[in-house]
Amino acid sequence: MITPVSWLERNPTYKEKQEEIKEKDLTTYGFLGYPVLQAADILLYKPDFVPVGKDQHLELTRELARRFNDIYKASVFPEPKEHLTKFPKVLGTDGRKMSKSYNNTINLSDSEPVVRQKLKTMVTDPARVRRTDPGNPDICPVYEFHNIYSTQAVRDQVNKDCRSAAIGCIDCKKLVADHIVEQLAPIWDTRAKLIQEPSRVEEIVEAGSKRAATVAKATLAEVNEAMKI
Ligand code: SF4
Repeated sequence: MITPVSWLERNPTYKEKQEEIKEKDLTTYGFLGYPVLQAADILLYKPDFVPVGKDQHLELTRELARRFNDIYKASVFPEPKEHLTKFPKVLGTDGRKMSKSYNNTINLSDSEPVVRQKLKTMVTDPARVRRTDPGNPDICPVYEFHNIYSTQAVRDQVNKDCRSAAIGCIDCKKLVADHIVEQLAPIWDTRAKLIQEPSRVEEIVEAGSKRAATVAKATLAEVNEAMKI
């Protein structure tokens, strides 16, 4: 109720998605108001930091925290800061930001053949049309995956061989796929075991929900007091 519509309309994600996703009608209350739900989900737990990716915006969350505190003359909400990880932006298989809405993701739930297939069709340096054309790893989304998953020695070799066309994109992608698969394998194993034990998953979710509910209740009590309701 305290969010001005103009704040939502100028939200960079709202504008970006409208430009990128033409096939869906995004001029809905749900899409416009979604960042308020996200802000509520964040502020309910009063964090000092939020682990986010690059280009994920916390500005609205901070503005809402400030606005609530100003209106109700209480310092209920902190203004959380971004906590970027070592690789704050991961590109999707089409070279745009990886996002479920763009259908360009590699999912932790994907099987090995699916991951390999997605990498096979991933976009590369667009200027490298023929096998004999030298490439530029600095602008290639596949090389970004090498940066995340491959060893320094492999990265150096690929960097050199791409620029001289000593390696082709198909082999380069296979190399990165091997490294990705190696690191995802333990996650797939754990996932496969957990699927066999649905009650264990429920226990984990329940325990997490309980911890979260305790914090949320305490925050809501403060909110109610500040709003005198
Ligand atoms: S060789 Fe690798 S880094 Fe170079 S353009 Fe092809 S996929 Fe990208």
